Amino acid sequence: MPQLLLRGRSIGEIQGVLFDKDGTLSHSEPHLTNLAEARIQLAVRRFQGGQAHQQSQSKLADLLSSAYGLSQEGIHPGGTIAVASREHNLISTATVFCLLGEAWPQSLALAHEVFDAVDLTLAEDGAPGGATTLLPGALTVLQQLQEAGVVCAVISNDTPKGIESFLINNNLQDTIPFLWSAGHRPAKPDPGAVHGLCKQLGLAPSECALIGDADSDLQMAHQANIGIILGYMAGWRQTPPLRAHQHLIHHWNELGVGADPTVPAQSS
Ligand SMILES: [Mg+2]
Repeated sequence: MPQLLLRGRSIGEIQGVLFDKDGTLSHSEPHLTNLAEARIQLAVRRFQGGQAHQQSQSKLADLLSSAYGLSQEGIHPGGTIAVASREHNLISTATVFCLLGEAWPQSLALAHEVFDAVDLTLAEDGAPGGATTLLPGALTVLQQLQEAGVVCAVISNDTPKGIESFLINNNLQDTIPFLWSAGHRPAKPDPGAVHGLCKQLGLAPSECALIGDADSDLQMAHQANIGIILGYMAGWRQTPPLRAHQHLIHHWNELGVGADPTVPAQSS
């Protein structure tokens, strides 16, 4: 079985690797910053029919920034916009409207209105989330895994369309043939998401590694009995505050794949 190498040393045998997407494989911070800022700006413009007092508008912008994990230092890697699904971000947004005195039905309707309008605008501007690029060194690792016969998959809380666009735009459809999205049930961080994806791969979780940039990913991996659990640290301007990892990666070039020691080397 192929060996997963960290800084040149084997950390175990693997048949499959489950990758988180945003902040792990994908350089998502610029897109998610645009997305969060666009949602905040539109929410401020439309809150209370655009008639909200200046003070309420400022408070709304501050609360939404906090809720999303957006600050001058960048996106908080454990914040809602970095980790949670569109649906959970929408609920957070509606909750902020409620905190400022709006009733829940109006809050939910306004959150839907804002999210749909921003999605449309970003798509028209040619800046959808799927256009994000790979983080440095990720492609080399993916190619090494593919060459060694290790099956790769994405497990993400992005929409199915968002993940598929990311794979197509980075020409990864053959390299990463399996995915589990926010549209699958259960979605992550339910350990059932790992079980469902591993079933697609035809592998036991113990035969796989999982690599993510949030403790919710890593805790899910423990609960699902994943064999090797790695935290990825370099996907955001801020360093993710991880605790639930077995190993940490600070750059993709720290990871490699070794040959199965049971297979004799070919003679020349
Ligand atoms: Mg992530």
